[in-house]
Amino acid sequence: MRLAGQSYRGRFAPSPTGPLHFGSLVAAVGSYLDAKSQNGKWLVRIEDVDWQRTVPGAVSEILTALEGFGFEWDEEVVYQSQRAEAYLNAMNVLEQCSLVYPCTCSRKEIADSSIRGVNGPVYPGTCRNHPPQGKKSYAIRIRVNDEIILFQDRIKGKYSQILSRDIGDFVLRRADGIFAYQLAAVVDDAMQHITHVVRGADLLDSTPRQIFLQQALDYPTPEYMHLPVVTNLQGEKLSKQTNAIPIDVKDALSLLVKALHCLGQRPPAELLQGDVSSFWQWAKRNWQAALVPG
Ligand code: GLU
Ligand code: ZN
Repeated sequence: MRLAGQSYRGRFAPSPTGPLHFGSLVAAVGSYLDAKSQNGKWLVRIEDVDWQRTVPGAVSEILTALEGFGFEWDEEVVYQSQRAEAYLNAMNVLEQCSLVYPCTCSRKEIADSSIRGVNGPVYPGTCRNHPPQGKKSYAIRIRVNDEIILFQDRIKGKYSQILSRDIGDFVLRRADGIFAYQLAAVVDDAMQHITHVVRGADLLDSTPRQIFLQQALDYPTPEYMHLPVVTNLQGEKLSKQTNAIPIDVKDALSLLVKALHCLGQRPPAELLQGDVSSFWQWAKRNWQAALVPG
């Protein structure tokens, strides 16, 4: 099911594992401009589903930074930490279709008995075939199949996976009770009626899993556009793990212009003489998704 003809609703969905860094700024700028250039809505969703990784203070740091950079979001910010009931409901639907099963395998057991897929070990299906006994805590996995999942990314073009070969049965809820990003993102994109997902290309290989869940849950599939990932001089993705430097709102204008360059846009040099509001005026008028490098 496609969402053709509906009015544009996009989102930016940072995980509050640290302050906003330049890589996330590029994703924010790309998703914002793509939405605003089409008179769309742009929503902010805080992906704090994994509360163990949430850094105290990061949420307000991120929101303050976004404000300082001149982003204006529509509607109230959604927090995944408050959405457990919706995720549980979705999991129950999948359970009624006999698509999920409990798994007690340890990380090590899986690593030892698996072949590598596109995103780590392909779960060999141990607990699918031999349901675990006893009361040990367990994760919940979804049963995938060997159909091709294909979608047309607006930048990357056609991308496909066979989940049974490339990913394996994946986790929807971990043994510690935390819902997986894949499930939470799909449920929330549907709840927020997101028509266009614009995010970093590091999530390209998650998209077939998300489409699979959308189909199983009878949700529409949005359009996808995966933006280039910003790397440091060592070629590593900028992230909290590689100690990316947080961005300073004092440098907002020059960082925004730099972000536009990363997105293949051609801002005139004079933009640097203006301010953040003249920057956004130019950027919203001149955004061209087709210029974003693949
Ligand atoms: N929370 C994810 C991140 O910060 C983004 C998820 C998404 O856009 O689907 O990398
Ligand atoms: Zn298992």
